[in-house]
Amino acid sequence: MKVYKNYIGGEWVEASTGETFENRNPANWDEVVGVFQKSGKEDVYRAVEAAKKMYPHWKRVPAPKRAEILRRATEILVERKEELARLMTREMGKILPETRGDVQEAIDTGFYAFGEGRRLFSFNTPSELPNKFALTFRRPIGVVGAITPWNFPMAIPSWKIFPALLAGNTVVLKPASDTPASSAELVKALEEAGLPGGVLNYVTGPGSIVGEALLENPDVRVITFTGSSEVGSRIAEVAGKHLKKVSLELGGKNPQIVMPSADLELALDGVVWGAFGTTGQRCTATSRLILHEDIYDQFIEMLVERVKNLKIGDPLDESTDMGPVINEKQRQNIHRYVEIGKKEGARLLIGGHPLTGEPYDKGWFYAPTIFVDVEPHMTIAQEEIFGPVLAVFKVKSLEEAFEVANNVQYGLSSSIYTRNLLEAMKAIEELEAGITYINAPTIGAETHLPFGGIKKTGNGHREGGWTVYEIFTEWKTVYIDFSGTLQRAQIDTWEE
Ligand code: NAP
Repeated sequence: MKVYKNYIGGEWVEASTGETFENRNPANWDEVVGVFQKSGKEDVYRAVEAAKKMYPHWKRVPAPKRAEILRRATEILVERKEELARLMTREMGKILPETRGDVQEAIDTGFYAFGEGRRLFSFNTPSELPNKFALTFRRPIGVVGAITPWNFPMAIPSWKIFPALLAGNTVVLKPASDTPASSAELVKALEEAGLPGGVLNYVTGPGSIVGEALLENPDVRVITFTGSSEVGSRIAEVAGKHLKKVSLELGGKNPQIVMPSADLELALDGVVWGAFGTTGQRCTATSRLILHEDIYDQFIEMLVERVKNLKIGDPLDESTDMGPVINEKQRQNIHRYVEIGKKEGARLLIGGHPLTGEPYDKGWFYAPTIFVDVEPHMTIAQEEIFGPVLAVFKVKSLEEAFEVANNVQYGLSSSIYTRNLLEAMKAIEELEAGITYINAPTIGAETHLPFGGIKKTGNGHREGGWTVYEIFTEWKTVYIDFSGTLQRAQIDTWEE
């Protein structure tokens, strides 16, 4: 059985606690994917020390040279894409096309970072005084603590690690305990590419210990977190006390609206992929379907027919549409929401139960589930379930559709299917979300555009593309006065 160690200061080392934990396959709980270090606070502090020690060196390496190492690491991911996707499917349960996509996302992010090595643009501006230049530079910040979730085990760590390193920071990564193998492989690719030891460190173990230690350590200057709003709020609290820079990418409750003018077959493809892709375990998953009354009955009939025919099972089998959920606790949580939905008066149309018997017995499978007659105030209309559960609403107008869509605390992704140009334009204007899709599902972000949400989905930062570099850099403003006299801003004004 493969034993993975922590990566600290360029060495693969065991945890100081002497303890380990197992990473198991959610489709077949008998299969242990790997054994990982159950680290303690001391291991995190050693990793932060190593990152702190390397920071003065790494930040002086010219950005285009840092970028070269990231490019080599990305090429290693390209070569190993299929092998990495298979490992990820075994540890996370997503079907193979999706895990290939996850690795591809890391590849896209790596190549983008490579290009950014020769950009990292800043700006100059005229001074208000003569013989004086005013310039700005982006500077790295220091040690970054990255805490990541299990649903995108390589893509999300890559969104954080590549830009943080390119900008000249050093990093300590704490991956989700459900999926530490894929992120270990990302770290190995960077090691093989020649990243100096200590620049990137990797420590596994429980969030309540390893994650908390990163939050509390005074030498960690930035915390970048993706995960639940509950943990995100705790992170903001602790990191706020220590005045760390914090970026939070949190939960979602994403709506898809379908209007009468829509191409209904296309809207159907969109909602099935958006709601049941990744077994509904995406922050951008479609968890609410808002149907105009004129097409409601027809669309529901089409939807049930399609969902009945989804093939659920072994995610390594190329013909499978949907794999298991991540673990037993998550399956129980999904089922708890289903029970609440029934109790509050929503009508269960299909699914609503764990899948048992062959081939499901050894994994955490749950039937794709659809509720109708859902009212906006209900728990299943408001809270993130993070599983294959879709809540359907019937509305009379576009305005009502927007009201229902916006009536949640989250604001990550949103979608409308319509062939009416004005409706599409209004949706862009009215939907309260960081991302709006027209005639496409709520999932499917591209890595070179800003990614993130409003309201309780985050704290105003955007990952992806150029905007993520705002998280990992600070501005330095430089004034160069070559007048040879004392020129006092706001006091000595320019006169003809
Ligand atoms: P989670 O339970 O919040 O865990 C996320 C990470 O935080 C894990 O590494 C976890 O460690 C760690 N953690 C737990 N408690 C901690 C603490 N007290 N201090 C510091 N770290 C702690 O989330 P998840 O279940 O892995 O992921 C699902 C959530 O992520 C959903 O809400 C989803 O919407 C959100 N998500 C958001 C985005 C986005 O970009 N907006 C993208 C993907 C997912 P352990 O694994 O050891 O518990």
